[in-house]
Amino acid sequence: MSEAPKTAEALIAEGRTFPPDPAFAAQANANDPAIYERAEADPEGFWASFAEELDWFQKWTKVLDWQPPHAKWFVDGKINVSYNCVDRHANSPRKDKVAIVFEGEPGDVRKITYGELYEDVSRFANVLKSLGVKKGDRVGIYLPMIPELPIAMLACTRIGAAHSVVFGGFSVESLRERLVDSGAKVLITADGGWRRGNVVPLKKTSDDALLDAPDVSKMVVVQRVGAEKCPVTMEPGRDVWWHEAMASASATCDPEPCDAEDTLFILYTSGSTGKPKGIQHTTGGYLTGVYATSKLIFDLKDSDVFWCTADVGWVTGHSYIVYGPLANGATVVMYEGSPDTPGRDRFWRVIEKHKVTVFYTAPTAIRTFMKWGDDLPNGCDLSSLRLMGTVGEPINPEAWLWYHSVIGKGKLPIVDTWWQTETGHIMISPLPGLVTLKPGSATRPFPGIAAEVVDDSGKPMPIGHKGYLVINKPWPGMLRTLWKDDNRYQQVYWSRFPGRYLTGDGAVKDEDGCFWLMGRVDDIMLVAGHNISTMELESALVEHPAVAESAVIGKAHDVKGQSPVAFVIVREGYHADEALAADLKKFVGSKLGPVCRPDDIIFTADLPKTRSGKIMRRLLRDIAEGRVLGDTTTLADPHIVASLKDKYSSDEG
Ligand code: AMP
Repeated sequence: MSEAPKTAEALIAEGRTFPPDPAFAAQANANDPAIYERAEADPEGFWASFAEELDWFQKWTKVLDWQPPHAKWFVDGKINVSYNCVDRHANSPRKDKVAIVFEGEPGDVRKITYGELYEDVSRFANVLKSLGVKKGDRVGIYLPMIPELPIAMLACTRIGAAHSVVFGGFSVESLRERLVDSGAKVLITADGGWRRGNVVPLKKTSDDALLDAPDVSKMVVVQRVGAEKCPVTMEPGRDVWWHEAMASASATCDPEPCDAEDTLFILYTSGSTGKPKGIQHTTGGYLTGVYATSKLIFDLKDSDVFWCTADVGWVTGHSYIVYGPLANGATVVMYEGSPDTPGRDRFWRVIEKHKVTVFYTAPTAIRTFMKWGDDLPNGCDLSSLRLMGTVGEPINPEAWLWYHSVIGKGKLPIVDTWWQTETGHIMISPLPGLVTLKPGSATRPFPGIAAEVVDDSGKPMPIGHKGYLVINKPWPGMLRTLWKDDNRYQQVYWSRFPGRYLTGDGAVKDEDGCFWLMGRVDDIMLVAGHNISTMELESALVEHPAVAESAVIGKAHDVKGQSPVAFVIVREGYHADEALAADLKKFVGSKLGPVCRPDDIIFTADLPKTRSGKIMRRLLRDIAEGRVLGDTTTLADPHIVASLKDKYSSDEG
């Protein structure tokens, strides 16, 4: 007799675990538990065994050269990433296999086989060459989620140019800053993209960004939306249409043999000082890392249809829409738009239509779907699914259990994957055929990854106690440095515990060796899975003429994980009223992009500061989250907090 379904609370209280389903385990790519010991005993040999599965022009002479904190992987190896992601499948029986299934928000579908992808990538590589792009140059990419985005990235790798993809939701200023910092020569954009039924005018934003980005001399424009809904002005001599340039380009372009340590891409992420950090990834190690993790964690088989819902503008899209799955010869789904257009069942419809087998999304999305109700997924055929994943922030057990029971019908494994832009690939995650799942825990480090939780002095924390998550050994996909700022690289990641990588996350290890991630220990907020620095928002706010000073914190939020709350001191002569609050929200949104828009603005006459002048964010968080006040003894003026708290409660009320 089957038991009545239990509530999530009951399951959490039980600390329920989910051992691998024997049927899944029997077919899993990783089903030998000895893999963990083997990798621990010889991590270099472990990683090299995956590098061997890739095609190299010239094999490496040494797997790892580690001069802390600088690593070189696969020394002297020569490889081309586009060759590994495209040519070797196009030259095999996979030639006619679909590489990319694209679905636009308006419902248009395009399927691109590996054979076609080979031609498109080669053509665009020739276009880049014709625009003067050479090996070692940087190319900016600011595109919606359309196939031209991976094609452009792969074309860069084909000729050995580094790409810097900027998320299509970013503003003029963010785009300009990234283009200037990376020294991009060419920008690839589109007339616009579709989002919630509206056109996002990317070309217009690009035009504005280029007013003050003098190194960018050419712009390639994809016509995604069309002149009727999104008219654009093409600047003669600078701008070219993608389709026109592609029409006259040759479909053959020899892949450039790149050094394993050549820069593959730069991707900017928030830093606690406000200036974004250009995370620099290289070629051979990164590809090995994303290839191995895609193969073992997502268990990719030739029959799989893999959908990672991230935007390619974030690292998740780089590693698990483009490089990892394509290196494995998988079919990937790319969806352009929002999950609620035209209806709130859009994701489930995509799964049903394209028979997605492996689905990878973010906890913030899962919590939103929970709110929208079970009827929507229950109204779709999700029977093609066999494995699900999450990434971006800790997943609360309630959301995990909902995902498991409603989407996974109580049967499918869930891989909760912890990693960062800096780490390049997944670092902590269950191997679905081997590891017992625990809702809310990312479980075990991937084989070969030496993760540990330590105290202030670097000693391992006792089981069950929160400490700093560090990585004790180099791994192939690790960032090599920060673009043009090696000092900052050394200082941010390696100065706290020399020789060990500081992740910036807090974590607890349990008695089974499973890791429970506890969020950032620095001043970075995770808003709907996006990494946003409080400093960046503060700097943007003080640029507004009405703002004298501000302090931003991330307040716990049911759906987004955290939501930005700004405490603002207004300058003389300005009125702290609702109109100003609305204006400030708009101001930040247009400077930094809509994800950065504060949800609440709290006007205050003062901010709680320590005697050394550091803003006490912990207290502001307590106030915003309605908690009893913590220790205020270190404050220069403890009265400020009490009055702020009163004010916040009355504003909220
Ligand atoms: P990003 O570099 O933008 O990808 O953000 C990385 C940060 O996201 C990490 O440092 C964590 O704070 C958080 N994060 C990502 N994945 C997870 C996860 N599965 N569990 C907990 N936190 C996560």
